[in-house]
Amino acid sequence: MSSTLQERIAEVSRRVKRACERSGRSSQDVTVIAVTKYVSLEKTSAVLDGGLQDIGESRWQDAENKWKALGNRGTWHFIGHLQTNKVKDVIGKFQYIHSLDRLSLAKELQRKAEAAGIDVKVFIQVNISGEDTKFGLEPEKMPDFLREIAGYNNLKVIGLMTMAPHEEDPELTRPVFRGLRELRDKLNGLELTPEPITELSMGMSNDFEVAIEEGATWVRLGTVLVGHEEGS
Ligand SMILES: *Cc1c(COP(=O)(O)O)cnc(C)c1O
Repeated sequence: MSSTLQERIAEVSRRVKRACERSGRSSQDVTVIAVTKYVSLEKTSAVLDGGLQDIGESRWQDAENKWKALGNRGTWHFIGHLQTNKVKDVIGKFQYIHSLDRLSLAKELQRKAEAAGIDVKVFIQVNISGEDTKFGLEPEKMPDFLREIAGYNNLKVIGLMTMAPHEEDPELTRPVFRGLRELRDKLNGLELTPEPITELSMGMSNDFEVAIEEGATWVRLGTVLVGHEEGS
């Protein structure tokens, strides 16, 4: 890919807009998270200069130098599998955690957030596709999980997150994204959270348009936006 970062940002935003139009949604309801895990501090800085506000990283080890330099700009999203012993590193730095997938992690997030006197916005990661290589709670476990964390007052459950299997034809991912939306609506009907769960974090470079058509409110885009470091 020889296009510049600015061209790619513009192209992605056109594609988001068209997917919204196709599905009768407002493009203001969809936020692009630029996933910078493959790229350098310089490139991450250029993304912020280019007008994107939301940065996604999946490992603290890769994010640390970028956050230290740029953490005062933009909004930071932790999107990868989060080890319990890394909670202390990310709490207070990442405003959103997309990968809450177990009670022990919820406990530790609550403990550290409470100690810091802050709230942390979380998405619960759900394994809709049922692939055993994917992290995430089984959909059937969600009601009990929400009941268990109901008293964790510093965790604000704002949404659900999922990852679809990689498919050559993105259309094949549609049932996964639709499944997450339907699960959200069903859970809201059970009224297990103080506020309804509104957000859906779903869609990556290969499948974000389908995810948007199915209701994504946050798309997490790496390759299509910033490429890999060897490229440009
Ligand atoms: C790497 C990653 C992405 C971005 O992947 P691309 O296919 O490069 O867009 C999105 N979400 C998660 C959880 C990731 O780990």
